[in-house]
Amino acid sequence: MVVVMKPGFTLEQMEQVMRAMQAGGVRVMVSQGAQTTILGAEGDISGLDQGLLGQLPGVEQVMRVSEPYKKANRKFHPDDSVIDLGRGVQVGGRKLAVIAGPCSVESRAQMTGVAQAVQRAGAVAMRGGAYKPRTSPYAFQGKGEEGIALLQEAQRATGMPIVTELMSADQLSLFLETVDVIQIGARNMQNFDLLKKVGRTRKPILLKRGLSATVEEWLMSAEYVLNEGNPNVILCERGIRTFETYTRNTLDLSAVLAVKRLSHLPVVVDPSHACGRAWMVEGMALAAVAAGADGLLIEVHNDPANALCDGAQSVTPQQFEVLMGKLRALADCVGREV
Ligand code: PEP
Ligand code: MN
Repeated sequence: MVVVMKPGFTLEQMEQVMRAMQAGGVRVMVSQGAQTTILGAEGDISGLDQGLLGQLPGVEQVMRVSEPYKKANRKFHPDDSVIDLGRGVQVGGRKLAVIAGPCSVESRAQMTGVAQAVQRAGAVAMRGGAYKPRTSPYAFQGKGEEGIALLQEAQRATGMPIVTELMSADQLSLFLETVDVIQIGARNMQNFDLLKKVGRTRKPILLKRGLSATVEEWLMSAEYVLNEGNPNVILCERGIRTFETYTRNTLDLSAVLAVKRLSHLPVVVDPSHACGRAWMVEGMALAAVAAGADGLLIEVHNDPANALCDGAQSVTPQQFEVLMGKLRALADCVGREV
C-alpha cells in the first residue's frame, strides 16, 4: 500500500500518517520525488485501514499495490532513478549510456585498443568479461584475475568505468576493489544468494534478464538487490529464449516499455546477445533507443573472426562508429542525447 501526500502537505501531517502506518504494523519507506511524496508500506499490510489513512490531513490518495515488488515499483518511487557509475557517468537521465567492449578480455592490446576505439566513437563505459559463464566447460572460461588487471589497464588509458560479470561471491571482494559496475549475467539472474550479497554493497549492479524470465521475475530479482539496501540497479534486456532459432535469442523490446512503466529503474538493451548476429546489432540498437531504452550494451571486437567468445555477434570498432553516428541522429528525435 502507498500513501500519496497532497502538494503542500506539512511535516506534522506526514509524521502523523507515518505513525498511523507504523501503528498498523508496517515499516514506512519515504520517497520524496520532484512532484510527489509517497509513503510506502513495507511488510504485512493487513493491519492498515485504507479508508482511515485516506481521511488523514495532507493525504491525497491511498493505493493498494498488487505487484510483489515494492522497492523496484514505480508506485513507490514515481521519478526515474538515475544510477551513478562513477567517473562522471550516469545511466537513466536524458543522456544515453552506451557501454561497449569485447565479450571477453583476451589481451592487453585487444582490451585497451577496443576501449580506446569505442570511447572515441562515443561510448561512456567499457565492458569485457574476465569470468565467463560458458555453456561448455571446454570453452574459454575467461582470464580471471589477469582479465581484471587488463580491464584496469584499459581504464588507465581511457578513464571509463569498468562493467564486468561477477559469477561467484568468491570474487566479490576483488570486484569491490577493482570494478565500477558488477554485471549479474542472465544465467545468474535468479542466484538469490549472489543477489543478496551484491545487495549488501553500494556498487551499481547491471542485472541481466534471465534466459526465460518473465518481466515480473526479473523485477523480483532487482527487488532482492534493493531490499538489501543497494539502490543502484540497472536492468538489462538481452533477449529471451523462444521457439525461434534464426537469432540467438528474441529481443523483447516490449519489455523495455513494460519495465519503464512498472519500475523507476533504468533499462539498457544488449542487442548483441539478443540477436547473436553482428549485422543485426545496429538495427536493434536503434530500435531499442526508439523504444525508450536508457542505454545500450554492445559487444565490439577488433577481430571478430578470431574472438575467443561471441565473435559472430561482435561488431568491429568501425561498425560501432557507424552505429554511434546513427544513434546521434536518432537520439535527437526521441529527446535523448549521446
Ligand atoms: C555477456 O554479457 O557476455 C554475457 C555472458 O551475457 P548474458 O549473461 O546476457 O548471456
Ligand atoms: Mn558475450
